[in-house]
Amino acid sequence: MEKNYAGDLYFASTRGITKFTPTTIARNETPPKVTITRVKKIGSEKESVTLNPDSEAIKLDPSDYYLTIEFAALNYIQSNKNQYAYKLDGFEENWNYTQNKLIATYTNLDHGEYTFMVKGANNDDVWNEEVTMLDITKKARMIETFWFRVLTAIFAFLLIIIGLQYYTYKVRQQNIELQKRKEYMEELVKKRTSELEIKNDEISRLLNNISKRNNELEETVERRTKELLDYNEELQRSNYDLEQFAYVASHDLQTPLQTIKNFSALLKRNLNGRLSEQEETFVDFINSSVHNMQNLVRSLLTYSRANAKTVIITSIDPTKIIDTICKELAVVLDSNKAKIVYTDLPKKIFADATKFKQILQNLISNGIKFSKKDVDPIISIKIKDTAKQWVVEVTDNGIGINEKYQDRIFQIFQRLHTADEYEGTGIGLALCKKMVEQHDGTIWLESTEGQGTSFFFSISKSLAHKKSSKEDKITELI
Ligand code: ADP
Repeated sequence: MEKNYAGDLYFASTRGITKFTPTTIARNETPPKVTITRVKKIGSEKESVTLNPDSEAIKLDPSDYYLTIEFAALNYIQSNKNQYAYKLDGFEENWNYTQNKLIATYTNLDHGEYTFMVKGANNDDVWNEEVTMLDITKKARMIETFWFRVLTAIFAFLLIIIGLQYYTYKVRQQNIELQKRKEYMEELVKKRTSELEIKNDEISRLLNNISKRNNELEETVERRTKELLDYNEELQRSNYDLEQFAYVASHDLQTPLQTIKNFSALLKRNLNGRLSEQEETFVDFINSSVHNMQNLVRSLLTYSRANAKTVIITSIDPTKIIDTICKELAVVLDSNKAKIVYTDLPKKIFADATKFKQILQNLISNGIKFSKKDVDPIISIKIKDTAKQWVVEVTDNGIGINEKYQDRIFQIFQRLHTADEYEGTGIGLALCKKMVEQHDGTIWLESTEGQGTSFFFSISKSLAHKKSSKEDKITELI
């Protein structure tokens, strides 16, 4: 191939030379007409729907979210060199240029009015100024419409107004309620305050009365205490006088009684055989009465002496004391087939030995005396060692004591039987009580009539501190 100065080209072949002048080739001045060939959309059905592109306007539903527009140019000279430009007016500002992709795709368009524009250029880049257009309208959703928004705004506004009104109404109501409550509370407080003031007055009046009464009572108690103390003193004096009298009387009665006893015995002996049976009975009567009287006088003497006698606290062995009593009462025990049981007694207690022995002797003697006719008396003695005292228990299996008389028997001269049934003076238990009290103790009993009696007496351990010795002898005059 050769080229000349004019730009012509020469090609050699078997059939000769071929000349080619490029300047003679004609330029394609006809711009292509672009046609919209197909429109498709996808909406709520999720399926592609083909629309008619010849219709005046394409109407899209609010739910349509996918739109494709296909187009083509009517130029068949080197159509592969055709060019296209398209844009969706209302959606985009600039043209989209393409050569091979003959399809425009839009997704999720807002509602509104659009115009799809497309134009083409031929293989010589000649653009068609006649733009092919397709109107596209996408309907708005109900909530996206202007009126809907206006109505919603009005409705919201109204709601706010109503809400505010309601709130104001409620607040006002609450204020009224609060005001009422406040007034009620103020009224209540006023009422309660005046009630309290009245109560207060009452209380202070009562307190005044109480304090007045208290003063009066204190005065009365003071007066009564003084009276009682005076009375007690007088009683003690009179008691002392009485005991003195009993002592003197019983002491002085002993001699005439003994004289009567001696002379009646003399009379009986001297007149032996000369007295009638009846006269002899009379003399026996005199004798036994004198005997009883002597017993009574002796007991009375012991009783009246008991207070005046000193209390000498020493360490004693209860077992030894009971041994001595048993020896002294050997005849009585023997004749009554009586038995005294006493084991495991404390080795040492603190008491007045004489009085302790006398109390036990009285209780043992009573246990034997008030035994049942056909039952051998058994008397058991126990001593309980407690923190503050020793408690001695003397139990018999005798006739027992009816509950209603149990308090009475510790009083002097109180007897539950006649002298014919059981001999006695009614002084023994009163004397025991007196001696127990001298040991800061008490005496009591438990008994079932017909079954036996248990006498208990306590001796305070605090007396151990007042223990007497030969040099340091504590004498108490009670
Ligand atoms: P006395 O024994 O001289 O009668 P007491 O003062 O010792 O006087 O006793 C008073 C009364 O209590 C007795 O007359 C008797 O009725 C009753 N009594 C005392 N000890 C017993 C007892 N162990 N069992 C039953 N009765 C008793």
